Amino acid sequence: MATKVTCARCEQEREGLDQPPMGGPTGQQVLENVCRDCWQEWRENSALLINHYGLALGNPAHRQQLRTAMREFLSLDED
Ligand SMILES: [Zn+2]
Repeated sequence: MATKVTCARCEQEREGLDQPPMGGPTGQQVLENVCRDCWQEWRENSALLINHYGLALGNPAHRQQLRTAMREFLSLDED
């Protein structure tokens, strides 16, 4: 049973993720502040961004660009 989170994006109390979607503090922040639905929306949105900008996840600058876009999309504050 997933725990409920108060989501930073939709501002509603909803089911969160079962586990951090990525390592480090950002993954923990997503786990604690983003609901499952909004995370799914971001996943779809990120796929579009990756295609649109031709981002390569092996490229640190591209990963950083994507992470910044993710924070804006999910309304997460900087660490
Ligand atoms: Zn949400």
